[in-house]
Amino acid sequence: MYCEVIIDQDAKALDRVFEYKLPNDMILHEGCRVYVPFGGRTLQGFVIKIKDKCDYDESKVKEVISKIEDYPVVKKEMLELMAFMADKNHLKLASVLRLFLPAEMREGKVKELLVTYYSLVENCEIILSKSAKKQQEIVEVLKGGRLASAILCDKYGASAVKALYEKGYIKKEKEETKRTPFVLMAEDKRVILNENQRNAIEAIKENKTYLLHGVTGSGKTEIYMNLIEKVLSENKNAIMLVPEISLTPQIMSNFKARFGEAVALLHSGLSAGERFDEWKRLFKGEARIAIGARSAIFAPLENLGIIIIDEEHEASYISESNPRYDTHDVATFRARYNSCPLVLGSATPSIDTYESAKREKIELIELPVRANGKPLPPVQIVDMMNEFRMGNGDMFSNQLLAELYNVINNKKQAMIFLNRRGYSSFMRCRECGYIAKCADCDVSLVYHREDNRLKCHYCGKQYKVLSKCPNCGSDKIKQGAVGTEQVVARLKEYFPEVKILRMDNDTTSTKNAHQKILSEFKEAKPGILVGTQMIAKGHDFEDVILVGIVDADQSLYHTDYRSTERTFQLITQVAGRAGRSESEGKVILQTYSPKHYVYKFASNYDYKGFYRKEINIRETSQFSPYARLVRILFSDFDENYVREMLKICYTEIEQLKEKYKDDFIYLDAMKSPIKRIQDKFRYQIMMRLRPEHADEIENEAFKIVDRATKKSVFFEVNPQNLS
Ligand code: ADP
Ligand code: ZN
Ligand code: ZN
Repeated sequence: MYCEVIIDQDAKALDRVFEYKLPNDMILHEGCRVYVPFGGRTLQGFVIKIKDKCDYDESKVKEVISKIEDYPVVKKEMLELMAFMADKNHLKLASVLRLFLPAEMREGKVKELLVTYYSLVENCEIILSKSAKKQQEIVEVLKGGRLASAILCDKYGASAVKALYEKGYIKKEKEETKRTPFVLMAEDKRVILNENQRNAIEAIKENKTYLLHGVTGSGKTEIYMNLIEKVLSENKNAIMLVPEISLTPQIMSNFKARFGEAVALLHSGLSAGERFDEWKRLFKGEARIAIGARSAIFAPLENLGIIIIDEEHEASYISESNPRYDTHDVATFRARYNSCPLVLGSATPSIDTYESAKREKIELIELPVRANGKPLPPVQIVDMMNEFRMGNGDMFSNQLLAELYNVINNKKQAMIFLNRRGYSSFMRCRECGYIAKCADCDVSLVYHREDNRLKCHYCGKQYKVLSKCPNCGSDKIKQGAVGTEQVVARLKEYFPEVKILRMDNDTTSTKNAHQKILSEFKEAKPGILVGTQMIAKGHDFEDVILVGIVDADQSLYHTDYRSTERTFQLITQVAGRAGRSESEGKVILQTYSPKHYVYKFASNYDYKGFYRKEINIRETSQFSPYARLVRILFSDFDENYVREMLKICYTEIEQLKEKYKDDFIYLDAMKSPIKRIQDKFRYQIMMRLRPEHADEIENEAFKIVDRATKKSVFFEVNPQNLS
């Protein structure tokens, strides 16, 4: 017998199938891992196929050395998924396979957590000297049953434990235990489903994709739980994805409360050991519901009855580092493989998803009102240029301050939202609201501090930093960037007595930090929580009656064609945090562009109006879903090599453009906006294609690039980040 093996190494030269012979006495299954000889070394590999005949010269085919596990770690469905993903996203097989296994299983190191227990040896006469107090105490407590070594050593000292063991009075046994992730406790709140919820649950049953479009607080979580309950009762399993689980500990608590041990968590906030143990519980069928961020879509569950993607519009569902993939594609593959429903839930679906629903490629289910019957909180737009002209140069408008005083006097809570992202920011005139944009691409320019320039991330064009506003001549033009830290400092000046908490990347780097901040906020009355988009998601705090958006434009003038969409989503999300129970809520939105259509639609919670406007703009400006943007990114330490590759590939792709004349909207080659990262030079080819033949063109372009270069090149489709 022979087998086809994929070597577990991240090298382009090894990215193909190798054949090995099976030793006569070895029984092996597809999906098992093995050790194989390779060029004088022993390497790990995955068996993807077992077969009778060999396609090569038999005398040259080497033998498998040994197997790593007795059972297939990659099941059949996942082998098919591997082929699908590698093909669709132009990925190496080994790098896809790695997504399917927890890091702890790689490099052959399978670390199980073993706990040592001590107990008394039966029918043994124990004689201890009077002075051995500790040892006597240990013997006494062990009469009540076995105890973990760690506990005994901690309380009585390791030497006493050791002495008893060496005398043969106590024995030890090792047992595998599970590291279970920490989850806040919650009680299982059962509600009586309303008609909208019942209809949704009734409708979702076929082997189809459903878009569950429900306003914030419409009770989507309850629908998910009911659907999963149904699936479990049919002896099937479920996957539920949330954007970033550490941001939504409440969802976790609610699922644990309802489903207990059947739930396994998979997300980046877990330690490697915890992840591994949770993975194993799923693999063995001990847990039947996988809940987690993006990577939980690879949960080793068979017989799936449903897949749910909550907040489907979130950018975190797209993996932008290697291996690059879109969770929606993977979820669709798995749902179709298992013939089960795929549910996409959101209050603000992505324009692309909603368009699919409009064209009836997926089924639309709507939940237009909040489950508790309360209205969505009113949104008041404040023109910050007006504040500035009236002599208020502060980051808070008079309206926002007045509302904050009101919250504090009534011992309630407020959330102050501000989205300030990394190095990039745009330039804006504080007098007239002018924003610097690329003349060719109609997206805002990004200020690059390292070379003090404004750059367009779509075409690579560079501009001088402005010292005067080209529109009104004012010199009050600068980068708009106030950070969360500044906001907190300012709030403390106004309200020295009030508890003010901050939640952003800087305050949440330690384990369980999110949960600590959120629990602290829950108790703080009055209290203010300041944060980035982390505070926008899913939180359900009863006493939050005010949401302040300090600078809504921060996400609007980003350089992405999806900036407006993202802004709409963010405002809707944060606004949805206010007034979730008895007290009415209110939202104050501060902007320098009060006339922008996104604010008009967002403040009226008019998703459909926004969609109609936005889809028109996408059509005229030729972006997704009317076009596919492909970036082919070349990067290497050797700049000459990169330039050479770029040139060769570009020339050939230009010929491709001749062949598909009508399908190319745009094609160019250039330096990347950030020219060097980690000492590697970066160049890129950008193509914008009409959707009809985009797959074919993308594949042909990939072949061209693959032939031309020995190194890996990144293919990115509609990437979020073009730096
Ligand atoms: P969404 O995920 O759609 O934003 P949630 O699922 O968080 O909404 O629900 C919002 C609130 O409404 C929660 O506190 C939830 O317990 C409550 N809720 C959900 N369904 C019902 C119902 N049928 N009756 C009463 N309250 C409900
Ligand atoms: Zn101006
Ligand atoms: Zn441009």
